[in-house]
Order: sequence, then C-alpha cells, then structure tokens
Amino acid sequence: MSIKRAQEVLSLARSVVVFTGAGVSAESGVPTFRGGGGTAVWRGMDAMQLSSARMVGEDLKLVWEWFEYRRDLLARCEPNLAHLAIAAWESRFPEFTLVTQNVDGLHDKAGSSAAIELHGNLWRGRCLECSSRVPLDMTPHVEIPPACRDCGGNLRPDVVLFGEYLPAESFEKARESAGRADVCLVVGTSALVYPAAEIPLVCAQRGATVIEVNPEPSGIGGSRSIMIAGRAGDVLPLL
Ligand SMILES: [Zn+2]
Repeated sequence: MSIKRAQEVLSLARSVVVFTGAGVSAESGVPTFRGGGGTAVWRGMDAMQLSSARMVGEDLKLVWEWFEYRRDLLARCEPNLAHLAIAAWESRFPEFTLVTQNVDGLHDKAGSSAAIELHGNLWRGRCLECSSRVPLDMTPHVEIPPACRDCGGNLRPDVVLFGEYLPAESFEKARESAGRADVCLVVGTSALVYPAAEIPLVCAQRGATVIEVNPEPSGIGGSRSIMIAGRAGDVLPLL
C-alpha cells in the first residue's frame, strides 16, 4: 500500500532529495563501530575515543592506523541494490540530490556522481596545514601520517570526527536542495540527530512529501509522510 503511494508520488516528482544513513551501509556489511557503552573495538580502544578531534592532536599516527584498518575492511564491501537504485535515479528526475551521512564511499562506487557527504569520506585525506584534499586510493600507506603533495604538511582523515561540526558548505548545499525538493526520501537512518535531521524537516515544512524507508520507521516526516518498513536493498528497487 505505502509502496504504491510512494511510486505514485515519485512518478510525478520533479525535484528529489535522497538522504541516506548507516542502515544502507550496514546492508553491504560495513561495520558501524558505534557499539556505545565504551565497547572496545580495536586494540582495546572504542571508536569514539579513536575517531575524535582530540586524538588527531594527541596521536595522529594512531588515528591513521585506525582509519587504515577501517579502509582495509571497506575495500571488501560492495554497493548493494539500494546504492545502485539511488545511482540510477540521478538520470530519472529533472533535479536530484543525494545527501549522505555515510563515509564509506559506496555511493561513489555504485555510480553516484555528486553525493553531498555531510560527514566526509574515508577515502580522502585533508592537509592540516593548507586544507588541501587528497584522494586516498592506496591502503595501507607506506608512511603514516601521509604527507600533503602541495605543502608537505601532515594529512588527517577528511571525515567529521567526534567533537567536530559538520562542514558548513556541504550542509548549506544540502539544505538548499531540501528547500527546493518536492519529495525527500529518508533511507537507512532514523535522522534524529541534529543538525543532519534538519534536511528531511526542511522538506516536510514546505509541504514536500517525505518517504521514509527503514526497518522500523521513526515518522521523521510527520503525519503526511509515507512510511515503508523494510530493508533499503529490498524496497528501493521497487520504487
Ligand atoms: Zn598541504
């Protein structure tokens, strides 16, 4: 029933925003490392401690070792049917924007060309001196921390760490797209954490239809939203 309604809404849509989160990655086997409660995940340290702005200042080498470990796990993960469906939607609608909270690069790998990455990307480094961004196609690195090609400064992972704000420019771009959309699809995220939660909210407030696809929909889009309970990889190809 709700799938049919979602299909109808999408068939008329001119401007679509898709907002994805960890659930989409989890279906590709990407570990989330968000056990909480101080769960030891790597060398006896928890992810919050390792992926923190403070640790970049204290032990950059350790931060790199941790991210190299994560990239190594990721290199074996493939995009799933949800990633592929979203990539195909780029050419289906007159205006289309993908906004993701995921840092694994699986949307790129599936063929999405212009994902707005609110939390950065594990496959990119950023220079601590000149802020240059550098693709990290190679893992493991011979030398860590790797050096910037422009100025020789140390690179850090170009992801948003605990204790840091979302990149203002990406967030603004995402909010602008949300302000123009007539449909917003929220996939694999309960989208309850601000400021990211604002994206579907901006859509809902201006009367756009919010379609939520989650195993247990949270009702983020309010009473007018279409909620579809299910896995992204099962539901999105049907839409
Ligand atoms: Zn530099």
